[in-house]
Amino acid sequence: IKPMKKLVLASFLLTIPLLAVCQNGEKFVNDLLSKMTLDEKIGQLNQYTSDGAATGKITVDAEKEKQIREGKVGSMLNVMGVDKTRALQEVAIQSRLHIPLLFGLDVIHGLRTTFPIPLAEAASWDMWLMEKSARIAATEASAYGIHWTFAPMVDIARDPRWGRVMEGAGEDTYFGCLAARARVKGFQGAGLGNTDAIMACAKHFAAYGAAVGGRDYNSVDMSLRQLNETYLPPFRAAVESGVATLMNSFNDINGIPATANSYILRDKLKKEWNFKGFVVSDWGSIGEMIPHGYAKDSYDAAKKAILAGSDMDMESRCYRDNLKQLVADGRVPVSFIDDAVKRILLKKYELGLFKDPFRFCNEQRQQQQTNNADNRKAAREIGEKSVVLLENKPVNGKPLLPLSKKNMTLALIGPFAKATVENHGFWSVAFPDDAQRIVSLYDGIALQLDKSSTLLYTKGCNVKDEDTSNFGAAVDLANKADVVILSLGEAPDMSGEAKSRSSIRLPGVQEDLLKRVCATGKPVILLISAGRPLVFNWAADNVPAILYTWWLGTEAGNSIADVLFGEYNPAGKLPMSFPRTEGQIPIYYNHYSTGRPAKNDDDKNYVSAYIDLQNSPRYAFGYGLSYTSFDIANLKLSSDKLKIKGDKLKVTVDVKNTGNYDGEEVVQLYVRDLVGSVVRPVRELKGFQKIFLKKGEMRNVEFTLSPDDLKFYNNDLQHINESGEYDLFVGNSSQAALKGHFELTE
Ligand code: BGC
Repeated sequence: IKPMKKLVLASFLLTIPLLAVCQNGEKFVNDLLSKMTLDEKIGQLNQYTSDGAATGKITVDAEKEKQIREGKVGSMLNVMGVDKTRALQEVAIQSRLHIPLLFGLDVIHGLRTTFPIPLAEAASWDMWLMEKSARIAATEASAYGIHWTFAPMVDIARDPRWGRVMEGAGEDTYFGCLAARARVKGFQGAGLGNTDAIMACAKHFAAYGAAVGGRDYNSVDMSLRQLNETYLPPFRAAVESGVATLMNSFNDINGIPATANSYILRDKLKKEWNFKGFVVSDWGSIGEMIPHGYAKDSYDAAKKAILAGSDMDMESRCYRDNLKQLVADGRVPVSFIDDAVKRILLKKYELGLFKDPFRFCNEQRQQQQTNNADNRKAAREIGEKSVVLLENKPVNGKPLLPLSKKNMTLALIGPFAKATVENHGFWSVAFPDDAQRIVSLYDGIALQLDKSSTLLYTKGCNVKDEDTSNFGAAVDLANKADVVILSLGEAPDMSGEAKSRSSIRLPGVQEDLLKRVCATGKPVILLISAGRPLVFNWAADNVPAILYTWWLGTEAGNSIADVLFGEYNPAGKLPMSFPRTEGQIPIYYNHYSTGRPAKNDDDKNYVSAYIDLQNSPRYAFGYGLSYTSFDIANLKLSSDKLKIKGDKLKVTVDVKNTGNYDGEEVVQLYVRDLVGSVVRPVRELKGFQKIFLKKGEMRNVEFTLSPDDLKFYNNDLQHINESGEYDLFVGNSSQAALKGHFELTE
C-alpha cells in the first residue's frame, strides 16, 4: 500500500475502536451491572485516599487493600506513579469481576512541571495557553498512572478573602465559561480513550465561591436567579465541553448542602443539561451533612446524597456503610444505585481500562514526562504571560521598566528573591527534587544579566514574622544599587483551601521593609507573589514599578526575568478586581445598577458609596499595562439595531501601537443593558481579543455580538432576550471609555 493510502487506512482503522467505544459502552456496562451483587455495586461508589500524597511515601493499608481485592472500592485518590498504580491495579483486578480502579489526583496546575496557579494563568487572557497547560498537565499525569484530575475549579470568585480564588479563573462569568471550556478540553485532549487524556472534574458544584464573608466552607444564600445567572454557567460550559465528572461543593445553597441538593444535581445537571458523567462528593462532604445539621447520622446522609444525585463518595464512607441497609429498608430504590454505578463504569470503559487496566502504566512515558524540557519551555512562556504590570511610572523622565541588562548594579531584596518551592504556591504535588528544579528569581535574573552588571542580594525579612533585624542590611544594599528589586508576597500556605484571610495585606513586616527601602530614594521595582488580589495602597501610590507575579511555578524566575529585562513585554490583565481596602469587599466590576449611582470616584452625595474611600477599585478587572502604549479608537457598529431573531451586530475599533515596543493588547468589549425586567449589571464583558502589534502598527479589530450573548435570567428563571437599549464599551479594561449604543429589537 502507498504511504498516503496507508495513512488514510490507519486513521480509518483508528476511528473504528472509537466509534465502537460509544456504541458498545452502554451494552458492556449493562452486561457487567447485571452480574454485580449489591455489595459490588456499592463498592464502585466508594473512593478512598492513600495515606501519603508525595511520591515515595504513598501507602495503602492492609484493610483498604483487602477491600480493593473484594471489589469494594471504585476509585483511589492520592496514588500516583507507575509502580504504585500498577501494584494497586493488580490487586483490584483480582476481584470477582476484575473491575479496575480509577486513580484520581488534584492536578491543579501541573504535575512534574508546575504552571502558574490558575488565577495567574487567567491573567494571560489566553484561552489557548490555558488549554495548553492543562494538556501538558494531563500528559504528565497520565504518564504517572493518573486517570482523573480534580480540576478545573470553575467557581466564580468575587471575594479575595476566600483563599481558593487562586484555583479559578476569577470573577467574571463570561470569562469563566471560556476558561472552563479551555481547561476541560486541555485535560481531556482528543477524548477519553487516548492514553494522554485524563478525566477532568468541574468543581465545586456549586456557588462555593460565594461563601459568606469569603470564609471557606461557609453558607451561601442567594436567589436562584443569581445562581443561574452568575455561578452555574461555567459548569454548564464544562458539561457542554464533555467534562467527565463534577465535584460537589462543601457549602449549602439556600439551606440545602450542595451534596444533597437535587435542584442543582438532578434538575439542572442531570436533567436540563443532560450530563452523562458522574458526580463525586468533595472530601467527606456526605458525612459533613451531619455537623451541617442536615442529616441525623451517616445513614440519613447517605440517603440524602444518593437520592439527590451524588454518585461517588469521597472518603466519608457513608455509602459504604449504609447503602445496603437503605436498599433493604426500602429507603433507596436500587435503581438510584444502578444509575450511579453505570455512570462510573461507563467512564472506566471510555478510558479503556476494561480492555487494559494497565494502559496508563508505562515507565518509558513516565520517564519522558519527568523534567521534560518542552513542558518547561511552555511553563516559562505561560509564566511570562501571567505577569501583570500594575505600575510603571517614570523615574528621571523614563518608565523604570524594562531594565537594561548592562552596566547595572541591582539589589535584589525580599523573602521571595531566592524562593524555590514557594513559587509553586498551594495545590501542587510535592516531589523530593523540587527545590533543585524550580528556577528562583535570583537565578533567573543572574542567568540573563550581562557581565558588566552586578547582582546583590539580601533577604531583608521573612514572609510572616515580625523580625526587622535585617532591615539595616537591606538599606545598605539598596544604597549601593542603581535599582532595587523587592520581591514580597504571601507564603504558599496563605492562599488555597481553608486559607481565608480577613486582612489581605502583605503579611509580617514586608510593607515596613518596602517603606525603608523606598526611603533610600533609589528606584524600586516591587514584585508581588500571591495567590489572590492583595491590598497595597501605599505601594501603589509610592513605588514606581509594580509587577504582580502571583505564584508562577517551576519556571518562575525565568519568566519574571524575561519580563524585567523586556525579553517579553507584559500583557497580563487582572481577572479579578483589586480592592483599595478589605472594607470594599466584595467588589466586582459587573455589579448591579442602583437607584443612587455615584457620578464619579469621589461622589459621596447620598449615593451608593463609602464616605471614607474612593468608589472605584484600586485596580479594575481587565486592567494591566504594557511597556508600549495602545490607542483604541474609531468605534463603529454595523447598525444601531440588532434584531432578536437571527441577527448579528459587528463592532469594530482601530487599535494602534503608539509606543516604543512591540506588544500585545487585550481589547475588551462590554455592554450595559439600560433597562430590564430585573435590574441589570452596570457592565458585562461580552468579548475580548488579544492581539499582537509591532510598534507603530495599526489593526482593525472586529467583534460580533449576537442576541444570544445578551440573554439573561428573568425572575421566572427563563433565559431570555428583552428588547431595549444597550450601551457598549470597548477598551483595555472594564473601565473602557469608548462608547457606542444600539437597540435590541423584536
Ligand atoms: C477539596 C477538593 C479536592 C479534594 C481532594 C478537598 O478538600 O475541596 O477541591 O479535590 O479535597 O483532595
